[in-house]
Amino acid sequence: GPPRPLAEPLAPRDVFIAVKTTKKFHRARLDLLLETWISRHEEMTFIFTDGEDEALARRTGHVVNTNCSAAHSRQALSCKMAVEYDRFIESGRKWFCHVDDDNYVNVRALLRLLGSYPHTQDVYLGKPSLDRPIQATERVSENKVRPVHFWFATGGAGFCISRGLALKMSPWASGGHFMSTAERIRLPDDCTIGYIVEALLGVPLVRCGLFHSHLENLQQVPASELHEQVTLSYGMFENKRNSVHIKGPFSVEADPSRFRSVHCHLYPDTSWCPRSAIF
Ligand code: UDP
Ligand code: MN
Repeated sequence: GPPRPLAEPLAPRDVFIAVKTTKKFHRARLDLLLETWISRHEEMTFIFTDGEDEALARRTGHVVNTNCSAAHSRQALSCKMAVEYDRFIESGRKWFCHVDDDNYVNVRALLRLLGSYPHTQDVYLGKPSLDRPIQATERVSENKVRPVHFWFATGGAGFCISRGLALKMSPWASGGHFMSTAERIRLPDDCTIGYIVEALLGVPLVRCGLFHSHLENLQQVPASELHEQVTLSYGMFENKRNSVHIKGPFSVEADPSRFRSVHCHLYPDTSWCPRSAIF
């Protein structure tokens, strides 16, 4: 449909982007993000990790060591989400967005999208990873369970929550509560967000096709529409390397994620982009 009118033009300081990472991915994944989209938007971006890294701390002041375990367990991941949530509430900003360390964030498109919704109302924006609501079992007391179903935005595509909604989530998300809420349904962090928002607060997920994870075929994102996409990713899909299709300026060998090429397409004045990218 036609673009919604701007509810409020947003400044970078209005948005809190949490990037979830882990120490073993600081060089393998995070450096690429710091060289590309984060370099243009340091004010908005906060990195949530699980280990000290002096080289990283020298590059950006926005590193949060969560002291969560570095394991890929459900508990370790919801521990990080809990810290992200608390830091966002403390920040006083209007919007919370969560992404993984294999996401490219097109911040101009993100600001346009968020600016078309009122941050004081209940807004949960993202892309569902399933084509139907997830079925879960909610533990309501010591010996009582009940089925529950709800939509959730896949964390690997990124999602955003308005401050108005985030404040309402507080009884289930703040302090230590997020981890105990996650234990109630024994599902990962992004599902737990959907459980709090949809099942407990009754606020529906707003689906947005501009968020992308590597659980979808990224070759299908039209190169002509990269300017509009809010997030991109790279990784594996159906056992094949998965990344967006963009011609240049870097080869697939030099830039397998395609993030450097995308970045030069969106910010052609970047010092390391070939001059020809401007034309
Ligand atoms: N991650 C983490 N701790 C781990 C492993 C992964 O915090 O032990 C983070 C990782 O940095 C990324 C997200 O979790 O931001 C998803 O990890 P990955 O892309 O490896 O897995 P996926 O779920 O996408 O297959
Ligand atoms: Mn991933």
